[in-house]
Amino acid sequence: MQIIFASSNAGKIAELQALFADSSHEFIATNNPKLPAIEVAETGSTFSENALLKAQAYAEKYQLPTLADDSGLEVVTLNNEPGVASNRWFEGTDEQRNQALLNRLQNATSRAARFITVACLFFPETSDQHYFEGAITGTISPAPSGTSGFGYDPLFIPEGHSHSFAELGPAVKNRLSHRAQAFTLVKQFLETHD
Ligand code: IMP
Repeated sequence: MQIIFASSNAGKIAELQALFADSSHEFIATNNPKLPAIEVAETGSTFSENALLKAQAYAEKYQLPTLADDSGLEVVTLNNEPGVASNRWFEGTDEQRNQALLNRLQNATSRAARFITVACLFFPETSDQHYFEGAITGTISPAPSGTSGFGYDPLFIPEGHSHSFAELGPAVKNRLSHRAQAFTLVKQFLETHD
């Protein structure tokens, strides 16, 4: 089955491809020139609402089943911010956003955090929508380290480890991460539904 992956984020696309490497399903991401990206405003107040907005917009425009994920970082001492606004709360590059987060945590007594993903799979013919979730707890390190991954990966140390996702690399991240958990459930769903 051909399925749109409603994202042009190179980090997310690489993670999806690694997880579905042995699958018969063909994912077309929206960085593919055959599938011009459409502007979808992420106006939802939850991860599920935003995942649905992205999945439904692409599914209805291109009449193909579509997978979209909405993810973010929740920092406990910041009342679970940046959360659904993880990409938008600070205008700038990933590096600048990471530094801004470290500044906000300068005097924090807790650095506990978790990554969350909600993935939505939307079927245009029936408007059926299915949701898959993943979460991983950890801590925000005092300084960025590592070069792999994207976004907050240089700052996030998953529980049970002493290195950031960006240092642990794709093989470990794809085994543990919030997105790996959600996409593994998507894979199981697709394997058991025609
Ligand atoms: P999106 O709205 O799902 O595209 O994700 C929002 C933002 O959350 C991303 O731009 C990243 O800053 C952050 N984020 C989501 N997932 C990850 C991840 O796996 N690693 C690091 N940052 C992430």
